Amino acid sequence: MVPTPPSPPPPSLRLTIDGEALAANWRALDRLSGAAEAGAAVKANAYGTGIDAAVPALRSAGARSFFVAHWSEVPALARHVDPAAIAVLHGPLSAAEAAYGRSVGVRPVINSLDQARLWLEAGGGPCHLMVDTGINRLGLPPAQLSESALAALEIDLLLSHLASADEATPLNARQRALFAAIAATVPARRRSLANSAGIALGADYAFDLTRPGLALYGGVPRAELAPHIRPVVRLQAQVIQLRDLSAGDTVGYNATFTAPVAMRAATVALGYADGFLRSWSGRGVLRCGPAELPLIGRVSMDMVVVDARAAPDLRAGDWLDVPYDLPDASARSGLSQYELLTVLGLRFERCTTT
Ligand SMILES: *Cc1c(COP(=O)(O)O)cnc(C)c1O
Repeated sequence: MVPTPPSPPPPSLRLTIDGEALAANWRALDRLSGAAEAGAAVKANAYGTGIDAAVPALRSAGARSFFVAHWSEVPALARHVDPAAIAVLHGPLSAAEAAYGRSVGVRPVINSLDQARLWLEAGGGPCHLMVDTGINRLGLPPAQLSESALAALEIDLLLSHLASADEATPLNARQRALFAAIAATVPARRRSLANSAGIALGADYAFDLTRPGLALYGGVPRAELAPHIRPVVRLQAQVIQLRDLSAGDTVGYNATFTAPVAMRAATVALGYADGFLRSWSGRGVLRCGPAELPLIGRVSMDMVVVDARAAPDLRAGDWLDVPYDLPDASARSGLSQYELLTVLGLRFERCTTT
């Protein structure tokens, strides 16, 4: 037997979720959904924020319907919510997945006739049905809606997904009209079309249930949402070491930065393995209170180096803020707001403030 080692000290990376802002964002999106209710997309570990941090806040705000993509995401979520409130977007790909869904009591999203058969062969029960109205990614083609395999399904939610809700394009209205026509013929208890951006398209798009993800976590996919959405994620990283550079010294892999004058630099415990990708190299800043410390040189796996001249009192062990206002960080890094959240790594200690 290997003896149990002592617990490690707290990590040098902190991801703090503002639970109050997350709850306020859900309430705002629920309100903007009009007569419809807002659910919550919590796939990919609640968009990187952590199921255990995010879901209790969403639940206490009032969220009752939760969406994940993979079956592997069910256990973490089922610790917090009634299994019947969990929808698995990818649906069953095998008899084993269908049997698992049945035994846990979660609801698969049926995306094809094959998935409908797998679910019915496993015993059936309440499920959801995704129809593809134009994204051509996942879901039943409308032409197959009259197939007999579907007649035996007990459909709770009829869903479709918008391809370009974050843009002004005629595709949105076309998808909405097709979805409304389909909804008139499919015996489902409830209907759902809009993601975060779709909520901003107006009441016509809300149907019975909306499925916001990104905007819950502080993302702003359409300008109309900006006044309603608060930032949720705060990132902080610890300084590991300070060093004095002479003019002409270079910093980091491939020596991409050369000190123009003698200057102080700080090495920080944050790298691309933590989701701070190399596209930030030379473009980002870290903050020490109001002082901005520009990144210098390349982002490495576990470290970045910043120009520390604006924070003369900085010491090893001090915490720096990683600016992560999502629209602004997206413009700076070239990563999408979705990517910025979902790449955040496992070395962040995830905690919640309320
Ligand atoms: C991820 C996802 C959502 C949430 O989309 P956001 O753009 O993050 O609001 C809603 N519906 C489906 C089917 C999804 O896959």
